[in-house]
Amino acid sequence: MTHTPAALPPNAVIGIVGGGQLGRMSAVAASRLGYKTHILTQDAHGPAAQVCNAVTLGAYDDPAALDSFAKAVDVVTFEFENISADALDRLSRHCPVRPSGHILRISQDRLAEKTFLASAGVPLAPWHAVTDHATLHEAARKLGFPLILKTTRNGYDGKGQRRVYSEAELEDAFAALAPHPLVAEGMVDFACELSVMVARGTDGTTRCFDTVLNHHWHGILDLTLAPAPVAENIAHEAGRLAALIAEQFDLVGVMGVEMFLVRDGSLMVNEVAPRPHNSGHWTMDACAQDQFDMHIRAVAGLPLPPASRHSDAVMKNLVGPEDMALWPAILANPGHIPHLYGKKDARVGRKMGHVNILFPFGALPGEWGIQAALGPLATKCAAPPAADED
Ligand code: AMP
Repeated sequence: MTHTPAALPPNAVIGIVGGGQLGRMSAVAASRLGYKTHILTQDAHGPAAQVCNAVTLGAYDDPAALDSFAKAVDVVTFEFENISADALDRLSRHCPVRPSGHILRISQDRLAEKTFLASAGVPLAPWHAVTDHATLHEAARKLGFPLILKTTRNGYDGKGQRRVYSEAELEDAFAALAPHPLVAEGMVDFACELSVMVARGTDGTTRCFDTVLNHHWHGILDLTLAPAPVAENIAHEAGRLAALIAEQFDLVGVMGVEMFLVRDGSLMVNEVAPRPHNSGHWTMDACAQDQFDMHIRAVAGLPLPPASRHSDAVMKNLVGPEDMALWPAILANPGHIPHLYGKKDARVGRKMGHVNILFPFGALPGEWGIQAALGPLATKCAAPPAADED
C-alpha cells in the first residue's frame, strides 16, 4: 500500500524558490489556505518578496543560503526552472521538495524531456538529437526543411531557437545556438496551440483544468481562451495526455503541458513546465479554486478539489510599457479583472500583469467578440501573431 504523507497543518511554512509573479500568486494562495510563505530569491523587492512572510536573499546555487532556507520551512516548491536539480536535491535533505528534483532534471533539458515523453507514449513533433555536424546533417535528412533547432536548456518564450529553411542555413544556425547539444524538430503545421494545467496530489489524485487555446505575440504568450474552441474529443484527449504525463512523472504540484493541435486533429506535446504556468492564469477568476490554490494544496498534501470552471474566460497578458500605458483604461473597464505583479520597470517584453475577462459558462464569443471585449487591449491582436521567434 502506498503511504500518503500527512498534510501540513495551518501556519506551516511553504518555501518557494524564486521571487517572480508565479511565486507571488502562489504565496497569496498559500495565505488564503492559512500557510506562511518564505521565498528564496535574489531580489528583496521582487513580486513574491512583496507578499510573503520571510525572505532568504541568496544565489540559487549557494549551499549556505540553500541550507538556511530549507531549515526555515516545512516544504519546498519552486516557481521557475532555472534552479539546478542538484540544488533541489540538497534542499530535500531537510524537507520534502514538491515537485521533486527528478522532474525538474528532466523538464529542464529538452532532450531528456523528449526521451521521457516518447517512452511514455506521448505524441511529439518529429525530433532528432544534434550533438555535432554529423548528427546535424542526419537530422536535416530525416526531418527535411523547414526545421527548428533549439537549445536543450534555458530556452523560454521562443528564445534559444532558430528556424532553418534550407541546407545553406544549417551550419550558421548550429553555430549561432549554444551550448550544444541541440534538438532539431520538424516544423509542425499546427492549427493552434493548446495547453492544459494538470494538478496531482500526494495521494495520486489527478485533476485537469479545461484545455485552453493560446495565442503568442513575438514568442510571448498574449491571449488564452478558456475553454479552447475545439471539438470536445480533442479537448478531452489533451486532458488525457496531461494526466498521463503527470502520472508518469509522479508529479506532486501543478504542471503546464503545452501542445500543438495539428491540422489532421492529432495532438503533439511541445513542452511541459512543472510549476504554475502563464496559460493557467485564467483560472484565477473563472474557477472556484485556481491553479495556485491547487498547487499549494498539492504541495501541502491537502486534498485536491475538482478543477471545475464556472465561467468562460479570456486572459490577456500585460507586457511592457505599451500595455502598461493602458492601465488607466483597464481600471476604468468594469469587465476587466486586473492582476499586477508589482514590478517596478515596465521594460519591453516584460510580463507586468494580466487581465481576465469573464463570460457566462458556454458563452465565449468568437474572435470579433473577444476583440470587442478587450477594448483598447485589442490593438495588437488585430494582426496575426508574428511568426518569427528568433
Ligand atoms: P518553445 O520554446 O519550444 O515553447 O517554442 C516557442 C514557440 O515556437 C511555440 O509556442 C511555437 O509557436 C513555436 N514552435 C516551437 N516548436 C515548433 C515546431 N516544432 N513546429 C512549429 N512551431 C514550433
